[in-house]
Amino acid sequence: QSATVPGAPTGEVDRPDATGTFESTDPATGAVVQVFPVHDAAAVRETVGRAHAAAATWAALGFAERRLRLAAYRGHLARRMPELADLVHRENGKPHADAVLEITLAVDHLAWAGAHAERTLGRRRVRSGALAANHAAYLEYQPLGVVGVIGPWNYPVFTPMGSIAYALAAGNAVVFKPSEFTPAVGAWLVAAWRAAVPDVADVLQVVTGFGETGAELCRAGVGKLAFTGSSATGRKVMATCAETLTPVLMECGGKDAMIVDDDADVSAAADAAVWGAMSNAGQTCIGIERVYATSAVHDRFVAEVTRRTAALRPGSDDGASYGPMTMASQTDIVRRHVDDALATGGRAVTGGTVDGGLIAPTVLLDVPESSAAVREETFGPTLTITEVADAEEGLRRANDSTMGLGGSVFSGSADRAMDLARRMRSGMTSINSVLTFASVPALPFGGVGESGFGRIHGEDGLREFTRAKAITRQRVGLPVDLMSFDRP
Ligand code: NAD
Repeated sequence: QSATVPGAPTGEVDRPDATGTFESTDPATGAVVQVFPVHDAAAVRETVGRAHAAAATWAALGFAERRLRLAAYRGHLARRMPELADLVHRENGKPHADAVLEITLAVDHLAWAGAHAERTLGRRRVRSGALAANHAAYLEYQPLGVVGVIGPWNYPVFTPMGSIAYALAAGNAVVFKPSEFTPAVGAWLVAAWRAAVPDVADVLQVVTGFGETGAELCRAGVGKLAFTGSSATGRKVMATCAETLTPVLMECGGKDAMIVDDDADVSAAADAAVWGAMSNAGQTCIGIERVYATSAVHDRFVAEVTRRTAALRPGSDDGASYGPMTMASQTDIVRRHVDDALATGGRAVTGGTVDGGLIAPTVLLDVPESSAAVREETFGPTLTITEVADAEEGLRRANDSTMGLGGSVFSGSADRAMDLARRMRSGMTSINSVLTFASVPALPFGGVGESGFGRIHGEDGLREFTRAKAITRQRVGLPVDLMSFDRP
């Protein structure tokens, strides 16, 4: 089978026209969704300037008042979920149910961040220690001011909200640059904020455009730049932020692996692998792209995966398993990877075809480890399955990657699974499931290596958008403690 069956290009974004605007389009039909301005350096700086003023007001409100407003925003998103899901469906191409799932997760994170900010970040007494026994010692986590958030298109609500919700809850204002493929979703999220909490409207603002607009946000004097996107763009963002020593949070690409051990529940592993690889058309940073199955279960696992993928139906209607590729250029990458896998000795047991932007679910066997399909992020509805002697070999191969975002282990032994999960070179690992860590707001989310650094979600995610502040107070009436200076 060949991956080079020609297909019509799906959604692609034209460069700005003479009026300085660009259109977002429906990947299924090519219809224009909305037209947006390309914000230049001056517009970005003006927006960030307004955000600085709003940040001072927002910080001064304190945790309790901010929590009320975050709850109002959360309620607004929950009530208007069908409208937002429809927009996500039209601009990104994913089925409605998938859009609802990502919005539900985002709303949950917003609730958690609002509820846990004070306990995580608020001022607390810490032990003074013997050398400063006459002092009270305090620690608090203060907001950074304005946080710039640059987001991708694949989960246009859930992904940026992982930074936005936690940055807002920590007391920062946010300027958000959504992907040029999903600007309407980004603008909707910001309009919803203005509607829900009009007294602090400028605390969340949007700028739209391409990479150049993102680069201007890096230069505009933000306290931190939270980037989510590909590792290649992440390098550029870091280089631009280096010009002004602006700190960065990097949530980049993944090449997540699953290990299926001798005593694993093969049926459950196959269910999870197919969902983890194919849902959202595989355009998921923590999607499963590689499986290492032991010889004891490999053939059974391949058969179960093949049977399940045969039942999937890509399409753009509500009942579809997944939608068209959001970007035409992404289709080209998937084609290149599948072609490379087949040319270097791999075989496709299913799929390998492209039809009008819809890529058939593709399962590849015997793909050499040197192939692009194993080494680079594919970001399509594809899966490589490799037979390994045992779970140790599976772990060694899983860890032989420049990236390390998530991953998963299927095993019948809880101890063994925990040991493998701990030694997996990834920021997050699910045992006997896939992607679960993303839906637990208390857990940090982020990667190692080229998958990035820093954490969103959970207490770490709240602290990511703050700076620690240390304060000591000499107790009145007690002799001045000069610490070690006057000690013999
Ligand atoms: P991308 O890197 O092409 O673009 C991401 C954002 O960066 C867009 O808003 C884009 O306009 C902006 N940008 C582009 N060039 C820029 C520059 N020079 N300076 C500043 N900003 C610039 O990524 P994408 O195609 O939108 O998203 C897919 C990628 O995102 C995949 O690699 C995926 O794994 C990754 N991703 C990671 C996570 C995570 O949490 N780690 C989550 C979702 C997606």
